[in-house]
Amino acid sequence: SHCCVIIGASHAGVNLAFALRKEGWQGSIKLIDADPHLPYHRPPLSKGFLTETPVDGREPIEKIQLKPIASYEKNDIELMLGLRVESIDADAQQLTLTNGETLSFTKLVLATGARPFMPPIDGLQDAKNLFPLRTATDVIDIKTALTNGNKNVVIIGGGYIGLETAASLRKLGHQVTVLERESRILARVTSPQLSAFFTELHQQHGVEVLTDKDVVKITTDDKGCNQIPNQIICADGSQFSADIIIVGVGIRVNSELAAAVGLKIEHGGIKVDRSAKTSFDNIYAIGDCSYHFNPYYQRFVRLESVQNAVDQAKIAAQSICGKEAEYNAVPWFWSDQYHVKLQMVGVGTGYTDIIERIERDDNSKRSLWYFKEQQLLGVDAVNHSKAYVLGTRFIKAGIIVNKQKLADTCIDLNAENV
Ligand code: FAD
Repeated sequence: SHCCVIIGASHAGVNLAFALRKEGWQGSIKLIDADPHLPYHRPPLSKGFLTETPVDGREPIEKIQLKPIASYEKNDIELMLGLRVESIDADAQQLTLTNGETLSFTKLVLATGARPFMPPIDGLQDAKNLFPLRTATDVIDIKTALTNGNKNVVIIGGGYIGLETAASLRKLGHQVTVLERESRILARVTSPQLSAFFTELHQQHGVEVLTDKDVVKITTDDKGCNQIPNQIICADGSQFSADIIIVGVGIRVNSELAAAVGLKIEHGGIKVDRSAKTSFDNIYAIGDCSYHFNPYYQRFVRLESVQNAVDQAKIAAQSICGKEAEYNAVPWFWSDQYHVKLQMVGVGTGYTDIIERIERDDNSKRSLWYFKEQQLLGVDAVNHSKAYVLGTRFIKAGIIVNKQKLADTCIDLNAENV
């Protein structure tokens, strides 16, 4: 009988399981994850879930679950949580779990996502209260370490996760320092303009944002009871004390299982075709772990976003059910920090010029429009949903935007004017 086994029960895997039923998959569905929690949304981990206090000592994890437990039962999706897949035998169509159990599959989906990259910093292993931030358990541990008074928190890495965490911890009243190795925060993912905006935003909220800080060593001594246990030392000789250290310096794809069976791995991701199929016929890869072709940009990309996980899951489900399906989505992403809602659409990298708009009637609304010559590549909208919606429409339709009009804030931003 047919069985689809999905490794990874997060945004990609869970959406796939439900999409399979919607597409009429008749066989069984097994959804495996090493994480013991009922599958949950990750974006709130650095936002609302971090700032929310437990009620009667219980963490409000139900608030962030992807689906209530009853829907898995109703859709006949077998959840196998707290179990890790150790190896795959592609020829025998079998996999082995770390508890020794074996499972057979007719279709296999790798939705294995990624794990935090832990940089090779001298003394990192022995640091006290040092955490990555990827799982619910990570956040519960961070919240435990944050109890009993205001703490001195150092965040290594000024990417979205580090910055959202900084905003959340300021809200809770802790002291926060962000140490960024590059010469600006968000250097890997966005333009200098947006980096400058977020630097100022965090400084206004009392975060110490320091760039060109390459952390090389951590020394730890927690014998004294009032002493701050960790000393962080940077390449330039500067030192910082920390009760708690949060590391947010990027991820590495969980691609070991795929590599071991001989699937193609490129640019750190599992290479798939337009239907999310890997180099093996009955094996698919979706979400953060996949390296896939994006037709809007005519190149392969690896994306870390809920949008990509959800959209690829739909395509894979259709393909597994024998339907023609090709991934064809404009990427989008969001981030919440303080009162600022950032919405991004497209892929801005490789731009030749940027148009920045700050709306005259409300200067809290701004947008950055990234162009490669005449082609609109992407839009970053700050508290400005309209810019985000319009940008999405223009990119999808391949509309050539009149840049002069777009740059002129005397002209309202709407579809007719640009
Ligand atoms: P993952 O979520 O990484 O899940 C993969 C799962 O596979 C994991 O649960 C893992 O335990 C499991 N797994 C891996 N290997 C095995 C194995 N061998 N055996 C068993 N299980 C295994 N995106 C946005 O669009 N907007 C945001 O605002 C945003 N905020 C974020 C905030 C945080 C703190 C984090 C961590 C991420 C955020 N993201 C955001 C990114 C988004 O959460 C990811 O893109 C998304 O989770 C990817 O889903 P996925 O299912 O591909 O992979």
